Amino acid sequence: MTVLNASTRRPTTWAVPRPDWKVRSVCRNSDTVKADDFFSVSQSGQARAHAACLSCPVIVECLQATQGLDSGTYRWGIGGGLEASQRYALESEALLGNRPNLGMARVLVSPRWLLRLRDLRGVCGSLEEMTAALREEGLMVDEVTVRVAVWWSGADAPRMAWRPSGEWQSLRARLKGEHLPAMSYLKGQGVPCLGIAAYLGIPGQSGARAVTEALRAAAQKKGEVAA
Ligand code: SF4
Repeated sequence: MTVLNASTRRPTTWAVPRPDWKVRSVCRNSDTVKADDFFSVSQSGQARAHAACLSCPVIVECLQATQGLDSGTYRWGIGGGLEASQRYALESEALLGNRPNLGMARVLVSPRWLLRLRDLRGVCGSLEEMTAALREEGLMVDEVTVRVAVWWSGADAPRMAWRPSGEWQSLRARLKGEHLPAMSYLKGQGVPCLGIAAYLGIPGQSGARAVTEALRAAAQKKGEVAA
């Protein structure tokens, strides 16, 4: 049906209903992945779910829709190619003003770039290094976009450097040294330590404990300076 815009009398395209993106999803149309795989605790089930998402033509739409369903600390399962903690991390990134370009993240996991992305993951020690390398190759990407692409490709992409340079430092020392401003800001925005740990990419409750300790030590130090 053609609908005419009231003022220009030209046909509008936005009035035509968009096809439902869900009908194009891999998980609805594949025999190799089951709905349970997206909520599985087994590695094989999760691997099948991630593989389905990686090849899914509507991964961007699905991620946006899944994020719309997440609430508070309640989030569960794999959706839009990301696990619950990764979506939690993205929400914290958004509070810090870091929003991924999901279209560009899709480019990074396309056949043209996926192998290169995996190579770089092997030789770079951090998201910063990977982003710089991709920029040198002409891709205008930022860290949070690269982070989503690495997650989609099935690897970890923590905010902590994954190969510490120089002397080994304890987790707490690294948190205090590198990430304190972001951690303090997120805490001030009401993000619980579990969410901050997800943002940093350190696992669950142990990560939350490390964040609590680092923030407590920083607050104590601040109190000493003020006194
Ligand atoms: S991205 Fe994954 S969960 Fe979402 S529709 Fe595609 S296969 Fe299903």
